[in-house]
Parts: sequence; C-alpha cells; structure tokens
Amino acid sequence: MHMIVCVKQVPDTTEVRIDPVTNTLDRSSAPAIINPYDSHAVEEAVRIKEMHGGKVTVISMGPPNAIEVIKRCIALGADEGYLLSDRAFAGSDTLATSYILSQGIATISRREPVDLILCGKQAIDGDTAQVGPGIARRLGIPQLTYVNHVAGIDPARKEIKVHRKLDDAYEVVVAKLPCLLTVEKEINELSYSSLPNMLRAVRFEPKILTVADLQADLSMMGLKGSPTSVSKIFAPPQRSGGEICSVEQLVEKLLELHSNEKC
Ligand SMILES: Cc1cc2nc3c(=O)[nH]c(=O)nc-3n(C[C@H](O)[C@H](O)[C@H](O)COP(=O)(O)OP(=O)(O)OC[C@H]3O[C@@H](n4cnc5c(N)ncnc54)[C@H](O)[C@@H]3O)c2cc1C
Repeated sequence: MHMIVCVKQVPDTTEVRIDPVTNTLDRSSAPAIINPYDSHAVEEAVRIKEMHGGKVTVISMGPPNAIEVIKRCIALGADEGYLLSDRAFAGSDTLATSYILSQGIATISRREPVDLILCGKQAIDGDTAQVGPGIARRLGIPQLTYVNHVAGIDPARKEIKVHRKLDDAYEVVVAKLPCLLTVEKEINELSYSSLPNMLRAVRFEPKILTVADLQADLSMMGLKGSPTSVSKIFAPPQRSGGEICSVEQLVEKLLELHSNEKC
C-alpha cells in the first residue's frame, strides 16, 4: 500500500488575533502548526501501514517554512515527504490548490503508484473542506468524505470499507482503491512519536517540487487559476456583554421573548 497524506501548515486559530486597525489576520500572533485533522490522517495512514505494510508519503503545498510540518509528520511515522513550493502557486483559491496538489500526487504516482490518498476533513484556517474532494475529482477517483472509521482494507481485492459520519448516523461504504478519504478527528487517537522517528525527523529533508517538476497548466494555478478572490476580511462584530440573573428571572425573560416572537 502506498499512501499519500495531504498536510497543510496553518496558524493556530485558537491563538490568532485580528488587527483592530487594519482588520486583517495578524499571523505573527499565532504559531504555525500542522492542521489538526491532518495529524489524524497521518496517524491513520501509519496504522494502515503497520497492518498491511507499505509506505506513507506526505505532501504539502506552501512556503519554504512548511517543511516544519513535513518533519512533524516524519516524527509521527511517515516515510517520505514532498513540499510543493513555487511563486506560481501563490494566491491560489481552493480550486487552484486542489489542482496543484493533484498534479503533485500524479507526479509522485508516476514513480510509485498510489493506492490511497488521505486528507483532513477541513483546514482550520480556510475552513472550506473543498480541497480533498477537489483532488479526488481532478484525479478521477472515488472520494469518501467525513470518514470516522476505517473498517477494513482488502489489498487483494483493492477495496476499502469505511464509516462516514452523517448528522445522526453513520454510513458504511465500500470503495475501490485508489480512492481519497477526508477524515474526522475521531477516526483515531494520536500516538506519541517514537524516539527513532523523532531523530529521523530532525535530519529529514523533504523533496521540493516546483512548477517545473509538474506536468501542469500554469493558467490553472495561482491567481489566474482562481475563480474566487477574497475582497474583504473583517472581524466579526463584538458581542455585547451578557446579563447575570436568577433561574426564575431567566425563565421569565425567555417566556417574554417567546411571546414577543409569536406576535
Ligand atoms: C475565496 C478564496 C480565495 C483565496 N485566496 C487566497 C489567496 O489569494 N492567497 C492564499 O494564499 N490563499 C488564498 N485562499 C486560501 C487557500 O485557497 C486555501 O488555504 C487553500 O485552498 C486550502 O483551502 P482550505 O484552507 O479551505 O482547506 P480545506 O479544503 O478545508 O482543507 C481540507 C484538507 O485539504 C488538504 N489541504 C488543504 N490545503 C492544503 C495545502 N496547502 N497543502 C496540503 N494539503 C492541503 C488538507 O488535508 C486539509 O485538511 C483563498 C481561499 C478562498 C476560499
């Protein structure tokens, strides 16, 4: 089994601040971390490797310092890492990002055919959950989204069985490999990195792929390949402070609100 996991470097959104003057994200206020959903995707790929054998390759598109998230994945047990980095990729929206990542995966796959691609359900900064499905569509392979359990893999039949999280149930789906999963956090518990993997991560140098390494159409990436653009970014309005009252007063206020709504 050769698995590719897409990992994104994101600012830790629990720490990120919005500059009240410019109304832009102050990225320096937050440390860069691996997107939390993607850690679970790496963990799942490593578990599958331990069960069925094979190799886990991680791939990230981003600036040169995104090497750090690839090293983190090596510490988690991944075997190989690629960074897609080029000025031509800058300004990409989700359509262009999924195009570039699919081209990167196709390039790696020409050398070592890929059986399974894993992504996080969504990135905690962009929050769109569009990139995984976009990659699958570009590669023309099945996509299994919101996966919270891998129930089994049959390498001989080239099949995977997963549970997909629905609102109030889960769905059991079998798909042919190669296919792409986007994973929920509850798919697994993260393991601690082993000392040998941590030592390997320190010395690990990912391979860099630039636009020259991809058989890609320049008009499909960067600003040119992005049909959407962010026209404005602003902080949500501040909530007004709450009122502290007794349970009796609270019930009274809620009843009052309810009767006002009915009028
Ligand atoms: C309308 C719009 C315009 C934008 N314009 C710009 C812009 O001008 N400049 C700019 O820098 N960004 C821009 N972005 C942000 C950029 O498109 C996103 O960061 C990127 O496409 C990923 O989308 P997302 O964060 O919503 O990821 P999601 O779709 O939520 O991510 C799902 C999963 O896809 C994988 N994934 C996502 N991104 C990557 C990545 N880079 N490398 C590896 N795996 C990945 C991960 O596994 C992740 O868990 C724009 C976004 C939007 C919506």
